[in-house]
Amino acid sequence: MPATPAWPPESLPRLFINTELAEGDDIAIDAAQANYLVRVLRLKAGAQVKLFDDRTGEWLAELVHIGKRDAVLSVEARLREREDVPDLWLCFAPIKKGRIDWIAEKACELGVRRILPVITERTIVKKVKTDRLHAHIVEAAEQCERTALPELADPVSLEMLLNNWPDRRILFHAAERGGQSFRKALVQHDGPAGILIGPEGGFTEAEMAAIAGHRAAVPVSLGPRILRADTAAVAAISLWMAGRGDWND
Ligand code: SAH
Repeated sequence: MPATPAWPPESLPRLFINTELAEGDDIAIDAAQANYLVRVLRLKAGAQVKLFDDRTGEWLAELVHIGKRDAVLSVEARLREREDVPDLWLCFAPIKKGRIDWIAEKACELGVRRILPVITERTIVKKVKTDRLHAHIVEAAEQCERTALPELADPVSLEMLLNNWPDRRILFHAAERGGQSFRKALVQHDGPAGILIGPEGGFTEAEMAAIAGHRAAVPVSLGPRILRADTAAVAAISLWMAGRGDWND
């Protein structure tokens, strides 16, 4: 007799499926996903896989058909509801390929709700490859067990970001020269938040003034050293998650 599988199943392969899932559905996966399951992981028909759709949560599914370039998964049972993601937005000036992918991946893993590329005067990379960033976000969500993807916003100018910034959302401006300790600022500022990180060359004087004059902005320091933008992003998200996010729950 086959051994009874452990319940709930741990460490199964996870895939993001961009359509709403329900029990009993047969899901045809694309060539890339099929290749990953069948040729990279060498799964056979009957293998179990976890699926999530960013809408209904996470599901257990069975690989029921393996084709030449595709495969079909049958959705069996819901394992988890879609999670409630901590209300933190990461706003950052795009930096070069590789590093920007890394920021998106880490922001997803660390639990950010929304990722907003912001074009500033000294932003070197003006064109953001949103598709590539999205692919990195999906991959990170698959491996870190998120049931909800962070939303990837279309790039906006700093001016647009500030003009359209919602009421009652604090904007922590990571300011490398000046600003109170982020850790201390978090004690005073609860609620929905965003973190703003500048490009490699920093913000211009005029941009600094515009940010400082914004009603939601709180300048914060991440210590005495000048960090690279990607390091600053990860450090700031981590501090917020530990102080106001879900790392303490
Ligand atoms: N203007 C700097 C480098 C900017 S570092 C220069 O050329 O000397 C890129 C971004 O990371 C900054 O805009 C800021 O948002 C953030 N950052 C880097 N170090 C930081 C620190 N110690 N505290 C807060 N933010 C920091």
